[in-house]
Amino acid sequence: MENKKLNLGTLCVQSGWKPTKGEPRVLPIYQSTTFKYDTSEQMAKLFDLEDNGFFYTRLQNPTNEAVAKKIAELEGGVAAILTSSGQAANFFAIFNICEAGDHFVSSKNIYGGTYNLFGTTLRKLGIDCTFIDDDASEEEISAAFRPNTKLLFGESISNPGVQVLDFEKFARVAHTHGVPFVVDNTFPTPINCRPIEWGADIVTHSTTKYMDGHATSVGGAIVDSGNFDWEAYANKYPGLTQPDASYHGLVYTKAFGKLAYITKATSQLMRDLGSIPSPFNCFLLNLGLETLHLRVKQHCSNAQKVAEWLNANDQVAWVNYPGLPTDKYHSLATKYMDGGRTSGVIAFGLKGGREESIHFMDNLKFIAIVTHVADARTCILHPASHTHRQMSDEQLREAGVAPDLIRLSIGIEDVDDIINDIEQALKK
Ligand SMILES: *Cc1c(COP(=O)(O)O)cnc(C)c1O
Repeated sequence: MENKKLNLGTLCVQSGWKPTKGEPRVLPIYQSTTFKYDTSEQMAKLFDLEDNGFFYTRLQNPTNEAVAKKIAELEGGVAAILTSSGQAANFFAIFNICEAGDHFVSSKNIYGGTYNLFGTTLRKLGIDCTFIDDDASEEEISAAFRPNTKLLFGESISNPGVQVLDFEKFARVAHTHGVPFVVDNTFPTPINCRPIEWGADIVTHSTTKYMDGHATSVGGAIVDSGNFDWEAYANKYPGLTQPDASYHGLVYTKAFGKLAYITKATSQLMRDLGSIPSPFNCFLLNLGLETLHLRVKQHCSNAQKVAEWLNANDQVAWVNYPGLPTDKYHSLATKYMDGGRTSGVIAFGLKGGREESIHFMDNLKFIAIVTHVADARTCILHPASHTHRQMSDEQLREAGVAPDLIRLSIGIEDVDDIINDIEQALKK
């Protein structure tokens, strides 16, 4: 824990892999499914979770572990697990403490894929979700809670609406009801915002976005703060506080203390569901993390300039960017995000609506229409026509996505060139 004193930029570069005498300076890719031991007893201890060590990459791998450690340190958590996608991360974060018959409450201003996972697929598993409005009062959010409610979920900055979550309000409601507060921190990244400092208990990521940052690898992460007291609500969380029959009676909270939640996610969910990222993808993710602090700053300063430019343009109907002083979420961004910096993502609409938006996007030169967000290259998407096209207009509005919303993800190119490309396309 000597790293706790280091600043974020140093953690990005230095934490995780700690080579000793004669070991490679750079995190090696342990592209091996399995690991060798000298005696049968050594291996048996690993299976009993009595000793630490690697035996099979579905459960743990040295490359993956070093990167998980770096992300845990960046978020100020006690442990992390990497998953093969952000979807798997959010699924595991919920499924680790919810089972058939349980319920949870989620902000409705969330990524479309997460909305489908919560509203459709988890329901098929018997886990019910009530969606609430971010801007609802504490009383209104509280009213959604039931005796079988197991957690409260929100996104730091919603994708694609770029609304900023009121962390303290959500944490208060969750903790009043004795449940953990789970936050998807994909957009701001720990460089701009560390939800655990504001009361979040568990933090998830799609590392596919800024953390990887170069659009090379789909991946996810779950970080546990270690702060939620599962034992205080032992009846509510039997999976953590009662003997696990599939691990010969082991009780996670008793055996692992603050590491209980992540250990269970590894030894039960990863064991049985197997959404592990490849060591090679984790190596690429680590390279991305080494420059995260530099890139995020550039994404944000570029986005600030583009948002101001769009806001002053006659053809633009509206701009949502929390960095604009006139934005509805500006004060929350100033309160919760370092320097008021949020992300490189801007949502805006053009006068003329849907038709005009599509025409504009087709005329862009290097700004590409891609199903992606938050990488080094500036890109653009019309959610109603692309990522969210399976949703009705009503569902779109429910998820905070206006039918004319254009999601512009500002990269780290020269900002004058980004603005020039937008300007020439608007003129057409
Ligand atoms: C992209 C995204 C996800 C899903 O992540 P994948 O890596 O694409 O599976 C989840 N949450 C947010 C906020 C996202 O932007």
